[in-house]
Formats: sequence, structure tokens, C-alpha cells
Amino acid sequence: MSEAGLEVVQVKYGERMVNRSVVFHDYAQYGLPDAELHMEYNFWVIRDGQAVMLLDTGYDIPARDWLGEIPVVSTPDGLALLGIDPAGVSMVITSHFHYDHIGYLRLFTNARVVSGQAEYDYWFGKWRRDELEGEFTIAEHLEPVKRAEGEGRLWLIGEETEVHPGITVYPVGGHCPGELLTTVRSRSGPLILAADAAHFYEQIENEWPFFAFTDLQEMRAALSFINELAAKTGATVVPGHDGRVRDRFPAADGEAARIATVLG
Ligand SMILES: [Zn+2]
Repeated sequence: MSEAGLEVVQVKYGERMVNRSVVFHDYAQYGLPDAELHMEYNFWVIRDGQAVMLLDTGYDIPARDWLGEIPVVSTPDGLALLGIDPAGVSMVITSHFHYDHIGYLRLFTNARVVSGQAEYDYWFGKWRRDELEGEFTIAEHLEPVKRAEGEGRLWLIGEETEVHPGITVYPVGGHCPGELLTTVRSRSGPLILAADAAHFYEQIENEWPFFAFTDLQEMRAALSFINELAAKTGATVVPGHDGRVRDRFPAADGEAARIATVLG
């Protein structure tokens, strides 16, 4: 890893407006007014010299819009704008196996795929039992994970693991059984890329659970863990779907400014 730290860029590929009362679990208990939130759909590019790595991949919104997402840029076009050839990406970390995070995994045919062991067990179990109907994942999205496994490119994570110098993943569960938190020693200092362990800033500030979870206690524990880790390391936490991240960090230069935010 270069002394200066790794380069981290967030790429926005979609968006939609949501209500607090819908996205926060049992929001009525807080006795607060409802309000709209700008939900953004992102993936993250991490560069270490010539090495290009991704956290998550986005998905093809026009091909199948799940919850009314509005497309901003397709993942292939977004990567092209950043000068990235998917075949040259050396590693893709999947925060979890929901459609909006692994939908384009098929593009990265040479990458080592880093996923939670519990995530793999949970979704491949459902697939085997023909239980994917109505879930936030389809078999087509799991195929590239299987392919990576067949080609010896799948790395399943069961505990805190440094997957590349300066990049560490932590299985936290909650939102999904094998949800991974990713920390990066970036050029601007340590970052915690929360992905869906925390979708919005309110969840970190107040430790409010999101409405979608496989284990509520695990989700609460994950939010506490994020705050403990941030306090211990001085890291800046980046929630996975919050439109306000783009207000707190500079946009990339040139044409990419519309979609890319420089986190580190
Ligand atoms: Zn998500």
C-alpha cells in the first residue's frame, strides 16, 4: 500500500426519494415528524497504485427496477467514465448479496470475490431449497458468485480479515446474515464504508435500525460496533445509501463529477 493511503471514490448509479417513516424500523416510536430522504444507490472504487478494487457493483435498473429506483448511470458506463476496465478489476468485495449490490458482479470475470461466509450459506441455501421468490436476490445474481467459486476466485470471510493492505472487512450481520463492513486506510484518513450496515446518517447518529433486517439484535450490535470502531480509530463513517454523503465530500473532476464523489 502506498504511504499516502488508498484512493476511494463513491459512484452513484441510481436514486429515489423515500420517507423516514418507511426506511427506519418502527419510526413512530421516536415521536418525530416524517420527512423525505434522498436515497442514493452507490458502489465504491478503491485504487492502490495500478490495482483497482470495488466494493459492490450496482445493478441494471432499467432491466428490472425493484423499488422504483431511477437510473443515473449504468455500472459499465460509470466505470468507463472513470477509465476502469471491468476485466482489470482485481478484487470485488460484496457487502452482501442483495440485488442492488451484486447485480453487476458478472462483469468482473477476473476479480477475486470477497463475501461473507454467512451470506453465502444463507443465500445458496435458499437457492437450493427454491426459496428465492419474493427475496431481494435472484438466482441470476448469485450465478457469478458460483462461477467465482468454481474458478477458485471466491474468498469467504468468517472473521475480521485484512483482504488487501489497508482494506479490512468485518462480518457484522443484521441487515443480511453475512453483511460485511469495510474499512479503508484512505488518502484522507481511515474510512468505514458501511454499505447496508448503515444506510443513512441517522442510523449511525442515533443507532436506529433500518426496516429490512434478518436479525434486529445483530443490526443494533452492528450500529454500535460502527460507532465503537470509529471512536477507536478516528475513522469517518460513510453510510451506504445517504444522498448527503455527496455534500460532505468533494466531487471528482471533469465529466465524472456528476456521479463520482472522492471520499479519500
Ligand atoms: Zn442496498
